[in-house]
Amino acid sequence: MNIAENLTSIQSSIPEEVCLVAVSKTKPNEAILEAYQAGHRDFGENKIQDLSAKYESLPQDINWHFIGHLQTNKVKYIASFVHLVHAVDSLKLAKEINKRAQQHNRTISILLQHKIATEESKFGLSKEDLLTLIHSDEFKALENIKVAGLMGMATNTEDRNQIRTEFDRLKALFDELQNESLPNVKMNIVSMGMSGDYEIAIEAGSNMIRVGSSIFGARNY
Ligand SMILES: *Cc1c(COP(=O)(O)O)cnc(C)c1O
Repeated sequence: MNIAENLTSIQSSIPEEVCLVAVSKTKPNEAILEAYQAGHRDFGENKIQDLSAKYESLPQDINWHFIGHLQTNKVKYIASFVHLVHAVDSLKLAKEINKRAQQHNRTISILLQHKIATEESKFGLSKEDLLTLIHSDEFKALENIKVAGLMGMATNTEDRNQIRTEFDRLKALFDELQNESLPNVKMNIVSMGMSGDYEIAIEAGSNMIRVGSSIFGARNY
């Protein structure tokens, strides 16, 4: 595995405006530093403890993306530094992020997770629930969060048409919301696509992909 080479090869195959988040979960600091030294700055983690430890020991100019399911009681550990929280799917979580952001005198950018996969296990809000959430007075009052866009995960399937249909659904909701004027919403980011499906995601309009194994190799848990 040559991490720098993998990064270059992916970067050169995607449009310049697509942000590549290197998903470094389960990977050691040395692997992250290899990517860092190759000029990469955006990394994604899905465990609070790992993210906190890596934040402490790695260069301060890394943009840390939290891409996993975030538990409310753990927001406090990353609120001072997290760059973008990808998978917000409840008012309760949004309120907690807002509260912790306020304590650190900052605004935290978040993405709302829209459930596009048919699999039961995937987190995320239905379109209806997502619209209800962002239009609610309680949500609008959250001044220390900014909804920067949407995030979604397609079904884990070989059926490329199904994946494309699911990504199209996320992009359509993103487009719909771009025309809305809400105090803490500014839709810029569509985070969709992983190692196995990022080409399809980019075709469907993704501008942020989260790629792990194609950069760092397979994960051994
Ligand atoms: C692990 C993970 C990824 C990256 O997966 P790969 O298939 O290794 O690219 C992307 N997004 C989320 C939410 C993940 O948990």
